[in-house]
Amino acid sequence: MDTMKAVVFKGKDHIAVEEVAKPTPKAGEAVLRITTTTICGTDVHIVRGEYPVRPGLIIGHEPVGVIEELGAGLENLYHVGQRVIAGAITPCGQCFYCLNGVHSQCQGALGGWRFGNTINGAWAEYLLVPDARANLAPIPDGLQDEEVVLCPDIFSTGLSGAESGNIRVGDSVAVFAQGPIGLCATLGAKLRGASLIIGVDSSDQRLATARRFGANVVFNPNNVDVVAEIKRMTDGRGADVTIEALGRQETFENALRATRPGGTLSSLGVYSGKLVAPYEAIYAGLADQKIVTTLCPGGKERMRRLMAMVSTGRVDLRPLVTHAFALDDIQEAFELFGHQRDGVLKVALYPDASRPNAINVAATRGATEPERMPL
Ligand SMILES: [Zn+2]
Ligand SMILES: [Zn+2]
Repeated sequence: MDTMKAVVFKGKDHIAVEEVAKPTPKAGEAVLRITTTTICGTDVHIVRGEYPVRPGLIIGHEPVGVIEELGAGLENLYHVGQRVIAGAITPCGQCFYCLNGVHSQCQGALGGWRFGNTINGAWAEYLLVPDARANLAPIPDGLQDEEVVLCPDIFSTGLSGAESGNIRVGDSVAVFAQGPIGLCATLGAKLRGASLIIGVDSSDQRLATARRFGANVVFNPNNVDVVAEIKRMTDGRGADVTIEALGRQETFENALRATRPGGTLSSLGVYSGKLVAPYEAIYAGLADQKIVTTLCPGGKERMRRLMAMVSTGRVDLRPLVTHAFALDDIQEAFELFGHQRDGVLKVALYPDASRPNAINVAATRGATEPERMPL
């Protein structure tokens, strides 16, 4: 039996690098050799036991790789050796939900999210991709792994917050929390044509990055009454669209209070427990406000569009990749990311730390100058 190196979830607060069976593709499936992957906040929830997955599962849902092996039926569509990504969400394209246009809910609530949730994920040397025909997206020539590694989840999710909020040209938008997803939501608000983009975060360092990603005003809730300031800047109304990118009661409530009557709260956060909408914040439920939720859009056409934005220079996601580690050093990487140390936004993980791109990480870190955002 062929084996591979992978990071296995063993139980609460316990992951381990182990030798496990290398996957073999059945008809319609593909196996990728992972060249770069990354850690998501959701992975932290999983490892801390806050989102249940089965022990023994390989986690991680953000794959960049090379096609290693193709199952039957894919020969005329892809070739071995081709560089591809797959979305964190891998819809089948055939079921009730997919054919109703809600691909992320493929086959049932959150069902499109398979990698590192219901099937083995990307923190490994090899990854089995289901429904490959719907999910393998070739990487445009000339793009490095680090330029596209945020497309499977972070860029797709953040941008979807702006899309689901239906931001119009000239809108005022407030984005609550400026972690990697909030920063991509801020970028999305700019791409959608918002005139006023307000970034909110308790880290001044992240607020500085928010300015580079499109925020023209930033507020730190430790220093100001954010809701009052947003209302002051919008003639007392509140923002046309607010985006919640943290998943806490407090930020949800503040986003709701900062949403004008008739406006939209676009929620990206992953919540736990009960979410409460206070009477006055929701205007007794009578103010024509919309609350929309979105799970990261996936599928190869979504990935093609996101990589097209990178390829043409409209978007540069590299400033978000602040650190890099060999997959063997997952404990160290997880510790840094999980505790949000050292200004970390996203870490690149390399199953093969000896390959050329991995060596370029120092250069990647240096590629974070503001002029690299040609928006
Ligand atoms: Zn994620
Ligand atoms: Zn489906």
